Amino acid sequence: MENSLTENMRVNFNRIFEAQKNNHLAVKLGSVDARKTKLKKLKTAIKEKENEIFEALKKDLRKPVFESAVFEVFFIYAEIDFAIRNLYSWTRPQRVSSNLLNLMTKSRIRYEPKGVCLIIAPWNYPFQLLISPLVSAIAAGNCCILKPSELAPATSSVLSNLIKETFSENEIAVIEGNVSISTGLLTLPFNHIFFTGSTPIGKIVMEAASKHLSSVTLELGGKSPAIIDEGADLKTAADKISWGSFANAGQTCIAPDYVFVHENQQEKFIELLKSSIEKKYFKNDHLNKEDYGKIISDSHFKRISILLEEAISKGAKIKIGGAFEESERTIYPTVITNVSFDSLIMKEEIFGPVLPILTYKNITEVIEYINVNDKPLALYVFSNNNSNVEHILKQTSSGGACINDVMIHISNPHLSFGGINTSGIGGSHGFHGFKAFSHERSVMYQSQLVDFGKLIYPPYGGKEFILKWIRKLM
Ligand code: NAD
Repeated sequence: MENSLTENMRVNFNRIFEAQKNNHLAVKLGSVDARKTKLKKLKTAIKEKENEIFEALKKDLRKPVFESAVFEVFFIYAEIDFAIRNLYSWTRPQRVSSNLLNLMTKSRIRYEPKGVCLIIAPWNYPFQLLISPLVSAIAAGNCCILKPSELAPATSSVLSNLIKETFSENEIAVIEGNVSISTGLLTLPFNHIFFTGSTPIGKIVMEAASKHLSSVTLELGGKSPAIIDEGADLKTAADKISWGSFANAGQTCIAPDYVFVHENQQEKFIELLKSSIEKKYFKNDHLNKEDYGKIISDSHFKRISILLEEAISKGAKIKIGGAFEESERTIYPTVITNVSFDSLIMKEEIFGPVLPILTYKNITEVIEYINVNDKPLALYVFSNNNSNVEHILKQTSSGGACINDVMIHISNPHLSFGGINTSGIGGSHGFHGFKAFSHERSVMYQSQLVDFGKLIYPPYGGKEFILKWIRKLM
């Protein structure tokens, strides 16, 4: 994979962009059935390459086949099937009512493809996060250029071949490469940019989009808290959190980033967390690397070790794990306590298998802490008390939330998935993803029989009664 942006590469992606622009009307005019056929074709192509995809994910992230199957590939099959099942109803123009001023008109919202779109993906779920928005883009009738993450090169290469073998490049094309390629692509006047990645790069993407006023969906990151209410079932919380925080070695955008537990329950919770971690990730007292991912790159490995060292220098204590194996880029599931709010680990998204446990006396402290920080992508509450759950939901804001579990809200295609402000803009999955790639075009059809519009045209003399009449209605 060539990484710096050469003149040849620029010419190449400009050519593909122009070809997609020229082809877009034909794609737009294709029937709903034609879109469904494309989605089926995509699914078949993925099925044929399943093993290659699993191999690539193993190479890039040591992702266990089970995790690759469930979170990367089956997730996409479900997304494709859902789109195929619902595409007729999504694409049907939506009737909306008329008000008194346009009584005899008909109004419709038509979901029309935005045009030529750019999808940029990160490395942590490198297959799913590139293909899931593509499913929405195809469903909505768009052409697309896809830019996978250069940090997952094996998966990037499989994706590139899969798309090349399945679609013509004047409709869907992959352009592999790093930051310079991404930067180059972002100079083009795309109709929509769907970016998944970190918050700082999200800002760069939005700035580039502003040059052409391209619309954006930004699926970003942040620090997602898990709050354990005093009366919650600690064992369930430990079981769920030990999965969410350490699956994919903690490299999940909606992984619980830190936990708030009542000060009287910290010890018990850590005990339960320890035994849950041992059950899930250890075999005969050794870390079972078959079922546990590695860190994506040396620089991320270093970044996480610096976060931990800095936290320790400010008083944090390691309660579970703490081992780092540089040669295999493996960081053992690690749990720390006594963490200072001033440490970097409480300021940056951790995005690795290190979990700070913080304590509270009163839930108000937790709410205050969450509210002075950036709005998280996800917020988790473990509680048996509905009014406590409602209180926390009302007093805070986050992209999404999940009660008595972690991360699984992403699996319901009826829910919009996305962040708010620094954790993201816009939503994805199911109809919400379809909407992200569609322009909601409002169309009003005037009646040919009666036109009340004439009542408001000049000359206005003698029409004062109309003002009085309208005022009475308001
Ligand atoms: P990243 O922002 O570094 O990179 C994402 C993509 O942007 C890559 O394809 C990369 O090549 C490109 N890129 C990097 N720098 C760029 C630049 N200066 N200009 C243009 N493009 C650039 O993110 P990452 O490290 O790949 O992924 C981790 C981040 O993604 C975490 O913050 C995580 O929370 C977030 N994430 C969010 C979601 C979500 O759905 N909200 C899902 C997964 C990951």
